[in-house]
Amino acid sequence: MTVRTVDVLVVGAGPAGLAAATRLAAAGAGRVEVVEREQQAGGIPRHCCHGGFGLRDLQRPLSGPEYARRLVHDAVRSGARLRTGVTVTGWAGPRTLETVGPAGPETVSARAVVLATGARERPRSARLVPGTRPAGVLTTGELQQAVHLHDQWVGSRAVVVGAEPVAFSAVRTLRASGAETVAMVTEQPRTRVPSLRRPVPLLARTYVVELLGRRRLTGVRLRHEDGRTTTLGCDTIVFTGDWIPDHELARRGGIALDAGTRGPAVDTAFRTAEPGVFAAGNLLHGGERARVAAEEGSAAAEDVLRHLDGEPWPGPGLPVRVEAPLLWAVPNIVRPHGPRPVRFVLRPSTPLAPPRVLVSQDGRVLHRQQLLMPARPGRPLHLRAGRLDGLDPEGGPVLISL
Ligand SMILES: Cc1cc2nc3c(=O)[nH]c(=O)nc-3n(C[C@H](O)[C@H](O)[C@H](O)COP(=O)(O)OP(=O)(O)OC[C@H]3O[C@@H](n4cnc5c(N)ncnc54)[C@H](O)[C@@H]3O)c2cc1C
Repeated sequence: MTVRTVDVLVVGAGPAGLAAATRLAAAGAGRVEVVEREQQAGGIPRHCCHGGFGLRDLQRPLSGPEYARRLVHDAVRSGARLRTGVTVTGWAGPRTLETVGPAGPETVSARAVVLATGARERPRSARLVPGTRPAGVLTTGELQQAVHLHDQWVGSRAVVVGAEPVAFSAVRTLRASGAETVAMVTEQPRTRVPSLRRPVPLLARTYVVELLGRRRLTGVRLRHEDGRTTTLGCDTIVFTGDWIPDHELARRGGIALDAGTRGPAVDTAFRTAEPGVFAAGNLLHGGERARVAAEEGSAAAEDVLRHLDGEPWPGPGLPVRVEAPLLWAVPNIVRPHGPRPVRFVLRPSTPLAPPRVLVSQDGRVLHRQQLLMPARPGRPLHLRAGRLDGLDPEGGPVLISL
C-alpha cells in the first residue's frame, strides 16, 4: 500500500475547513491539503442563494454562493491544495486516512488532521415520524440543493416543519421554486419570528404525527396542543433545523464524542482525544452561522501550528457539564492555563428571557455574564468566557448553569 504524506489534511471544504486551510497555508505549515466529497468546494453556503453571509467576518454583505467562492479563492491563493470529488471513507491508522476519488482509493498520512465535516438536519426517519414513505419529503439542505444546484421541481404545496431562521430560508427557497408554503409547524411555543414579505400561517405547539400518500405525499396529519388532530393537504414537507453533527468519520476513528452534542469532544484548542486530530465548525455543535464555523477553523489553525511546532498533546483535562435547561456546551473540556475559548456555544431546551450565565467549579463562581438576547431552542447562544482564571486542576467538572 502506498501512503502519500502531507503536513495537514483538512476533511471538508466548508467555511470551517477552508478558513483553517487558508490560515495554515498562509502561516507556512507546509503541504496543506483539503479533501471535499462534493464536486465543488464551499460547503453549505454554495446552495444558500440568499444574503446573510460575510457582513461581520468579510465586512461585506454576500450571498451564500458569493461567500463560498470568496473562501475558496482565499484558500487557493494562500497555497492550500483543494481536492474535490474525494471522500474520506475511514482510517488506516492514527492521522492516516483512506480516501476514494476520481483516481481511485488512496491513503494519506498527515502530521495533523482537521475534521470539518459539518452537520446536517435530522431527516424524517431520525425524527421517527410515522406514516407512508412517499416522495416529497426533504430537509432544507436537500431542498436548496434540488432548487439552487440542480434546478429541479420540488412540489407545489409545502409544509415546513420548524420556525428557526433556517425554516425561513426553506420558505424563501420554496417560493423561489414556485411552491406555496401552506403552513409552518413547530412543537415550540409561538415566538417572535423573522418577517416574510408574504406571511405564512405558523402553527405553534403542533406536532407532525403522520405522513400520508403512496407514491407522492398527499398530506400530513397534525396534533395540536389541545389534542385536536387536523390534516393539511400538501405534496411536499421540509424538515428544518434539529441538527446532527456529521460525525461518522470521527466515530469510525474511535474519537470520543460529547454525549450532548454528538460531535467530537474538544478542548479550548479544538483538540480531540486523539493526538494530532483537531475538529472545528458545525461538526462540533450543529447549525451555527457560517462566520462562527469559519472563526473556529481559523482559531483551530493556530492550535494546529503549535502542535506542528512540537507542543505536547495534553492529558484528559476537566470536563464541562451543563445544568438544565441547558442541553450542552462546546468546548467540552477545559484546562487550567489552557488557551482562552473562542466562545462557549450553548443550547437551551426551552425559551428563556435574556439569561444570566454562571460558570463554576465545585460551587466557586469563575465567570458570570448577562446575555442580551433571549434564548430559544435550536438557536445559537454564545458565552464569551474569558480565561476562566481560578480553575483548580485537581477540582471537579466545570459547570455552566443559568
Ligand atoms: C438552509 C441554510 C441556510 C443558512 N443560512 C445562513 C445564513 O444566512 N448566514 C450564515 O452565516 N449561515 C447560514 N447557514 C449556516 C452555514 O451554512 C453553516 O454554518 C456553515 O456552512 C458551516 O460550515 P462547516 O464548514 O462547519 O460545514 P459545511 O458547510 O457543512 O461543510 C462541511 C463539508 O464537509 C464535506 N464532507 C463531509 N464529510 C466528508 C468526507 N467524509 N469526506 C470529504 N468531505 C466531507 C461536506 O461535503 C461539506 O462540504 C445556513 C445553513 C443552512 C443549511
